[in-house]
Amino acid sequence: VILTVEDDGQMRRFFRVTLGARGFQLAEANTGQEGLAKTVAARPDVILLDLGLPDMDGLDLLERIREFSSVPVIVVSGRTGEDELVSALEMGADDYIAKPFHERELVARIQVALRHAAARAPGEPAVYTSGELRVDLAKRVVTLSDREVHLTPTEYALLAMLVKNAGKVLTHRMLLAGVWGPDAVEQTQYLRVYFGQLRHKLERDPARPVLLLNEPGVGYRLKEPR
Ligand code: CA
Repeated sequence: VILTVEDDGQMRRFFRVTLGARGFQLAEANTGQEGLAKTVAARPDVILLDLGLPDMDGLDLLERIREFSSVPVIVVSGRTGEDELVSALEMGADDYIAKPFHERELVARIQVALRHAAARAPGEPAVYTSGELRVDLAKRVVTLSDREVHLTPTEYALLAMLVKNAGKVLTHRMLLAGVWGPDAVEQTQYLRVYFGQLRHKLERDPARPVLLLNEPGVGYRLKEPR
């Protein structure tokens, strides 16, 4: 079940038509209060959350939901405020999608969220592959076209964090805190340097990255594995 929390009737209709056609079951809420009630009642697998709701801020609803549930939440926002997206991701949203968006993009994001939810149970050791890149987290081995790539410990730590969240956007602060620690959350220049190094080692054309993707003003995303 996908719960859409959205006050715009046209958007709700769009969700109903596109997601219904792909076989997803939908629950709908027009307001934050209704969204909270249906999160409890319908036990959704994914929530699509609009930030501009008539009765409360979507971020407040997210905070309430996170008090009792780790259900994947994808923020669907028409607001361009990057600060707001960053706050949403740091408050526990799993991803965001900016309006207007293509329905393929929406479905891809939902599938990533569902996979992440399923992967939360401890499973087999994570091996990430995309194109020529293979990252084996259990063995700490990175290969490109079957040739081992040597990474520094910091480069590897950054890549490993991305691999564990492949397909999902991580904010600058999340990456800095995760790799360099909580005192480094303002040091965005570290990311520019280290993403530059990783792209040189892992991307065919470092100037046009297809794996280590930039989300301007928000963070970075490692391409979904395939
Ligand atoms: Ca709205």
